Amino acid sequence: MARLGASLLEQLLAADARYRGPRADCGAGHDAVFVSYRAKTIDTMLGPVRLRRAWYHCAACHRGLAPRDGELGTAGVSLSPGLRAMVARAAAAVPFARAGSLLAELAGVGVTTKRIERSAEADGAAARAGIDAQADAICSRQVVPLPPPQPLPDMLYIAVDGTGVPMVAAATEGRPGKGPDGRARTREVKLACCFTQATADGEGHPVRDPGSSSYLATFEPAARFRQLLDAEARRRGAEHIRQLVILGDGAVWIWNIADNLSPPPPRSPASTTPASTSTT
Ligand SMILES: [Zn+2]
Repeated sequence: MARLGASLLEQLLAADARYRGPRADCGAGHDAVFVSYRAKTIDTMLGPVRLRRAWYHCAACHRGLAPRDGELGTAGVSLSPGLRAMVARAAAAVPFARAGSLLAELAGVGVTTKRIERSAEADGAAARAGIDAQADAICSRQVVPLPPPQPLPDMLYIAVDGTGVPMVAAATEGRPGKGPDGRARTREVKLACCFTQATADGEGHPVRDPGSSSYLATFEPAARFRQLLDAEARRRGAEHIRQLVILGDGAVWIWNIADNLSPPPPRSPASTTPASTSTT
């Protein structure tokens, strides 16, 4: 079935090589010149698919490009967006080599460990850049998150912890550690889980709202973690929810963060404070 699908997909994609005339925009404002049609094989969820697309060259940028690649999301990469998403999921769940055998067993696609590593780390870096940018936009008030849907949850809980993650030697190079040779073998990952609670069970015990958990995990130092967490708390509606609860052990950095997280605004029945007003 996958082979049949791949063959159909290949024929579908072959219907249009996106020849756009002798010249095409290079993406940096220059005219790139048509050179020829060039073939490229991309790996998809259905298996490898061969593409033929119009190839242009930009003399000013000294580089070639196929506008078709940009449209298909395969510019500079050889995995289709669909397969890339599968690779990212598997590689986030298990080590890269096991992700490869999982994909082979579950989906019948063969991707080498090295390609899984490269693809997953590139997508991870892109996801991280997106999260960083969103957090900075929220903290600087360029973006004001929507309030949580009604009825408002009564409590927003933020559980915070840190733990040492065993690392390969290359990932701890130059970092001092506590071992006899002074070399670090772990790095601390800081974690937070945000969840809301609106109801209690029959015995009065609070019940976590189903599906309300969101997570934050980073190797960044505490100062940056605080900003990311502040943004996540605001994104989750901390400014609209009656009570913010921080759960943590005795680590000093956690309580520094708890002291400095922006509290929700004081709520009075007559208050008409707009959501975008600073509360720090
Ligand atoms: Zn150019």
